[in-house]
Amino acid sequence: MQAVNGHYANGDTPASSEPSYERVQIINDEKQFTPDLTNQVQRWGLHNAGFDYDIVAVFGSQSTGKSTLLNRLFGTNFDVMDETKRQQTTKGIWMCKAKGMNVMVMDVEGTDGRERGEDQDFERKSALFSLASSEVLIINIWEHQVGLYQGANMGLLKTVFEVNLGLFGKKTADGRNQRTLLLFVIRDHIGTTPLANLKATLAADMQKIWETLSKPQEMQDRQLSDYFDLSFAALPHKILVPDKFESEIQELRKRFVEKGREDYVFKPAYHKRIPADGVAFYMEGIWEQVQTNKDLDLPTQQELLAQFRCDEISTAALSEFNEQAKPQRRPIESGKVVEGLGSMMRNWRKGALDRYDRDASRYHPGVYKRKRGDLVSVIDSTLSPLFLGQLKNLHKACLASFKKEMLDGLRGEGYNFAHVVATARECCEQRFVEGGREVLVEGTDWSYEEELASLKEEMKSVADQCRKDETKKMVNLIERNFKRQISEPVELDLNRPTADMWDKVLTVFRETLGKTEASYLAKAKSFNCTDEENVAALASLRKRAWLALRSKIDEQTADAAFLSKLRTYFEERFRYDEQGVPRVWRPDDDIDGAFKKAKDQTLELIPLYSRISPIDKSLEYTLPSEPSDPLTSTEEFDFPSTLVIFSETKAQDLGTRFRRDADAHYVEAKRSTVSSVAQ
Ligand code: GDP
Ligand code: MG
Repeated sequence: MQAVNGHYANGDTPASSEPSYERVQIINDEKQFTPDLTNQVQRWGLHNAGFDYDIVAVFGSQSTGKSTLLNRLFGTNFDVMDETKRQQTTKGIWMCKAKGMNVMVMDVEGTDGRERGEDQDFERKSALFSLASSEVLIINIWEHQVGLYQGANMGLLKTVFEVNLGLFGKKTADGRNQRTLLLFVIRDHIGTTPLANLKATLAADMQKIWETLSKPQEMQDRQLSDYFDLSFAALPHKILVPDKFESEIQELRKRFVEKGREDYVFKPAYHKRIPADGVAFYMEGIWEQVQTNKDLDLPTQQELLAQFRCDEISTAALSEFNEQAKPQRRPIESGKVVEGLGSMMRNWRKGALDRYDRDASRYHPGVYKRKRGDLVSVIDSTLSPLFLGQLKNLHKACLASFKKEMLDGLRGEGYNFAHVVATARECCEQRFVEGGREVLVEGTDWSYEEELASLKEEMKSVADQCRKDETKKMVNLIERNFKRQISEPVELDLNRPTADMWDKVLTVFRETLGKTEASYLAKAKSFNCTDEENVAALASLRKRAWLALRSKIDEQTADAAFLSKLRTYFEERFRYDEQGVPRVWRPDDDIDGAFKKAKDQTLELIPLYSRISPIDKSLEYTLPSEPSDPLTSTEEFDFPSTLVIFSETKAQDLGTRFRRDADAHYVEAKRSTVSSVAQ
């Protein structure tokens, strides 16, 4: 025998050495309930039986052959009093699984001499416990005890009924009365009194007991038949007619086994509707109440049981769920989009709820439902961060691929910006919506709309920034083209100083600028630029074109270049004649006159170049001046001052330098005549 907290699980007979028939002491002589019953139910193979099991208990005086009867009927191995040895059996309530049936059998073991008060307490409590927890209570009685109130233990039965009528008065959660079958087994039936007479006597006794119970006020009109069915059997004398005894036992056994029989004892109405995996907890609760002498309240017991079991089942389902969900937390937190996360989450959730439903739905419906709601909300609060994390990661990934796709699209020649952006956006949005839809879980109120709206917003601002950059690049390109286009014509014009020189320069400028503006507008169309942006870009383009022209002019009028222009101009007039033939000065030539004329004509060029001023005033060009802006780092721009090429002082200085140059030519010319004369 092994002791579990003072309880014994018996393993000393061949039958009980198999775990499926082990005997267990569910209540020991200290009146403690065993902590091992759940495990024992499992070892009996009944844990997953659901409602497919029954419980039978026995009631009757000491040594009336109760244990013998149970062992014969159910193949159990409860202790039987050995008359020759008078050995002491262990007091308490024992339980055993019936052979070949899903039946748990309870046997009560008392002691002799039940006059002692302590034993009466145990008898009363164990009787009460047997009655409350079993479907069928076998009431074992000698034939000669029938009709004898005291001898047949009827007093005890009355006490049990009376003190705990509350137990039978309340209805269960599904509105039924708790019904129990009282099966009277009359022992040592000799046959002189027919069974029918014995039945009538016993039924009348029960009725009398019921009527004389002091019932609670609200239960005055309750009948015995509201709670109990009575059934009867008689067995012959075991010692005198052992064969007959045995065959009658086998006959009685059929009433426990053959479900089709009219007198089959385990009718559904007697079942306590406690799933097998909850039976241990349920019985412990009943024992607890028997012990503390509270009114037995089975519906409350059932609810308590449901709470306990539903919690247990929920915890088990949840722990499996957490095992599944946990490995995905890290990748989500590290920013990954987890492939197939939605279908995983739906599976975990469904798995947990299915498991809970399978095991918990047999318990009290209200409790089952409430605990299910709790489970759902715990599950969803675990899944929700995964859902939100996945959306966030998807958002990031989509935005990155949007940028990449857009930049790839802008790499080629002749792209249409608006088209490139629209294609990239569509593709990215579709990917997000697909991913977002995948990760939705039915039964929740989750949505990806908010994240989608923020993604759209960000795509728009990325596209806007990109458009600005692209526009800037385009304007730079156009500016470079402009410079290239004006370079040669302006250089040519500035090398031919005529009165309408500036008219020609400005005409070239205007025509080229016109073409440039047109090409900007053509390109800007594909960028979806706003009118405001177009106005700003054109203004900037005009200013940059003007400054480009100015810088071309500066290049052409830099000191050395300009002095060389003057020199060429002077020489063309002083050293060459009208036909362009080099002059050879003779002594009688008017060198002074020619020199003065050429010099004066050349000096007239200085005011011509010193300011951009066309003859045709309609060609004059203006631009708005603007102050410097530290934000856009534009320099101060004062248009009128850009018209001035040389200041007054500069003009004088250039004149002086030119004169010095010219004088050298004069001296050289003079010298050449002297030398020719000298020859
Ligand atoms: P329990 O105390 O009620 O469990 O009774 P037991 O089963 O231990 O039996 C007590 C004694 O009665 C034993 O010696 C049995 O052999 C004997 N006994 C068992 N069944 C019968 C029966 O049907 N008739 C008679 N006369 N004796 C029996
Ligand atoms: Mg016994």
